[in-house]
Amino acid sequence: MKECKCSSNEFITQLNSYDLYQVVDGKLKFQKSEIINEKTKFFCRECGTERKM
Ligand SMILES: [Zn+2]
Repeated sequence: MKECKCSSNEFITQLNSYDLYQVVDGKLKFQKSEIINEKTKFFCRECGTERKM
């Protein structure tokens, strides 16, 4: 694993899940976490280039 071509060595993950909430009796209630994309992708924090692991 090398640094990005822009010389950044920090990588962020794609947002690949979200939490589902419902309003129940006027209160916000957590339902579940759902995964949108099971493969985690990494992107350079500086320039946004996708990094293949
Ligand atoms: Zn970069």
